[in-house]
Amino acid sequence: MIVIQSHRVVIDGRIESAAIVIQGERILEITSYGHPDAIDVGKAVILPGLVDSHVHLNEPGRTEWEGMATGTAAAAAGGITTLCDMPLNSSPVTTTREALAEKRAAASGKLSVDVGFHGGVVPGNTQQIVELLDGGVLGIKAFLCHSGIDDFPNVGERELREVMPLLAARGVPLLAHAEIAEPTEPMTDPRRYADYLKTRPTSFEREAIELLIDLCKRTGCPVHIVHLADAGSVPMLRAARASGLPITVETCPHYLVFAADEILDGATMFKCAPPIRDRENREALWEAMREGVIDMIASDHSPCPPAMKSLDAGRFDQAWGGISSLQLGLSVVWAEASKRGFAITDVVRWMSREPAKLLGLTRKIAVGQQADLVIFDDDNQWVVDGKALLHRHKVTPYDGRVVRGVVRQTMLRGAATKVGRGLTIDGRERLGQ
Ligand SMILES: [Zn+2]
Repeated sequence: MIVIQSHRVVIDGRIESAAIVIQGERILEITSYGHPDAIDVGKAVILPGLVDSHVHLNEPGRTEWEGMATGTAAAAAGGITTLCDMPLNSSPVTTTREALAEKRAAASGKLSVDVGFHGGVVPGNTQQIVELLDGGVLGIKAFLCHSGIDDFPNVGERELREVMPLLAARGVPLLAHAEIAEPTEPMTDPRRYADYLKTRPTSFEREAIELLIDLCKRTGCPVHIVHLADAGSVPMLRAARASGLPITVETCPHYLVFAADEILDGATMFKCAPPIRDRENREALWEAMREGVIDMIASDHSPCPPAMKSLDAGRFDQAWGGISSLQLGLSVVWAEASKRGFAITDVVRWMSREPAKLLGLTRKIAVGQQADLVIFDDDNQWVVDGKALLHRHKVTPYDGRVVRGVVRQTMLRGAATKVGRGLTIDGRERLGQ
C-alpha cells in the first residue's frame, strides 16, 4: 500500500486537501490530509494522469520519425498516462484489422504509458471498419484533404455517409481533419510564413466543418473536430452543439500559444496544418475554451526526421507539416492558461477528463480507478531545451520558450512509469467491460 498526500489534489474538478491510498494498481480510498503513512508532496499539486487523444507514434514502418518507446517515454515525462495513436503515419496505416494487429505487436514491451489506437477510413476500406471496431479501436480518423502521405488518402462525403452510421450504432467517434482544399494562389516566396498561411485559408476549415455538422445531423454519428485552428468556425460549432448534436472539438497547444505574425520567415518547425493563424484568432480560441465550445486540448504530436523539416532551406512548401510537442503540453498550456486567469482544474478538464471521455475511458482520481497520477510543481518556470527532450528528434518550435510547471513524477497504475509498464487498450475498457 502507498499513500500520497497534498493540500492540493484535483478531485472531481475541484482542488481538495486529501490523502490518496493506493493498493496495487488502483485507488483504494481517498481520506483526509494527515494520513500517518503518507508521502507528502509538499507544495506540489496532484493531478489525474493526462490523456492525449491525438498522437502520431509512427510505428511500425516509420519508427525513425518517433516510435513507441521514445514517444511514450516523452509522454510520461510530460505527465501523460494514456494516449491514443493515430492511424497514420505508420506503415502500414491502421486501416485494416491486420494493420491494427501489427500496431499492437509493435507496442509490446516498449510502452511507458497506456496506448489506445484509432483506426482510419480511406477510400476502399469501408468494409473493414466493422472489423477495426471489433478490434478495439477507440475512434475512426478521416481526412477531408490530402493527409501528407499517399498511403492514407482522404475521403469525401460518399465514404463518410457509408461509415458514419456504423460508428453511430457503436457510439464511436469519427475524428475528422476538417479542411477541404480549394485551389489557391501559388506561394511567391516559399520561405515566408505569410505565404504559407494563404495556401490554407480559414475557408478550408469552415467548408469542412459545415459538411461534418450536416453529416452529424443526418447520421447521428459522434463527430470530433481535431485540431481546430480557425476561431471563425466557433459560431457554427456553438450552434450545432446547442441544437444537441454530438460534436466535440479539440485544439492544440500550438494554436493557443503562437501567432502567425511572430513566426519568422524560414521557421519551418512551426509548419502544421491547419496553420497557426493570427493573434486575434488565438485569443478567440481561448475564449471558446472558456465558453466550452472547444472541449479539449490534444498535442497532435507529429514529428519527422529533421531532414524533412527543410530547416536549412526554410521552405514551407517542402517542409513536413507537423509539430513536435508531446512532452511539453502540460507546461506550455499551463503557462498560457494561468496568464489568462484559468485554474489548474481547467487544464485537467481539457487535458484529462474530456479527452478520456472522447476515448470512452474514465481517468480521474476516485476510489476504484487505476492510480494514474501526476505530481506537478505548478509554480516553477523553466526554459525549454529541445535537446533535453525525450522525443526521438529534438526539433520543436518550443525550444527556448519559457513555460510553467515541472512534472516531478508520473505514476501509472500505482507505480512510477518506466518502459514496459504501459499497456495497449483493447477496446473492452471503452465498453466498460
Ligand atoms: Zn494529427
